[in-house]
Amino acid sequence: MLPRKYLFPHVIEMNYQACRRLGVNVYLIDGGSEWLLIDVGYLDTVGEIIDIIRKMDFNLSACKMLIATHADADHIQGIARARELLKTKVAAHPLTVGPLETGDEIMTYATIKAQEFSIPMPPCKVDLVLNEGDTIRVGELKLKVWHTPGHTAGQLAFKMGNLLFCGDNIYKDSCVGVIDAHHGSNLPDFIKSLSRIIKDDAEFLLPSHGPVFRRDNRILQKAIDRLTQYQYMADFGTCAIAWPLLDEWEKEVSAGRMPNFNK
Ligand SMILES: [Zn+2]
Repeated sequence: MLPRKYLFPHVIEMNYQACRRLGVNVYLIDGGSEWLLIDVGYLDTVGEIIDIIRKMDFNLSACKMLIATHADADHIQGIARARELLKTKVAAHPLTVGPLETGDEIMTYATIKAQEFSIPMPPCKVDLVLNEGDTIRVGELKLKVWHTPGHTAGQLAFKMGNLLFCGDNIYKDSCVGVIDAHHGSNLPDFIKSLSRIIKDDAEFLLPSHGPVFRRDNRILQKAIDRLTQYQYMADFGTCAIAWPLLDEWEKEVSAGRMPNFNK
């Protein structure tokens, strides 16, 4: 039997457990009589992850559900396979159901044509929808469902005691999940989601990528400040809500003023 490396009581993270970088963070929530996974990662690591779970002496038939935090390929490419192998249910936010069930290659980032990137995206049936305010029970534990749109429309986070599984909302270096109009990103929503996390009392943040860390509002505030600026910058195209430079320019053009290079 493989010794279980608990990160916190009832929480195992599979990269830490495997002592190697598998990909996205895969959290196993151990409720005693049953367990669940938050994200499963790429298709080619699903077998290894399930093998480690078996070797840690978890009963594979006690897997209550597989949760998709959202439908990005690096988080869920292997979820259909894991659902089949574990004979369990897949749960996601209603706005994630479409891309997951159709295997939408654009929405899931399985295909990025301009970068000649393409991986298969097996579609997966969603058995359960998770909405804001729902409570997931796993054995003796309770996870509160947070809908935190911004990175994608259906991004979920989960509060369990003093822990917040914050998905792609925030990472330890203050970076956030990709902002991209094609992907359903929304800057005002993203800022609201980050503001919600900053106001919460969670002591630790468990993101979908990289290290788990103690909540530090400076990390969150830095991201909020940056995203607030992005709302008025052309850098994120149609995700910006206004572009003051063009508004000023339009006024000049309409007034028939030519550029003044001495200003
Ligand atoms: Zn991600």
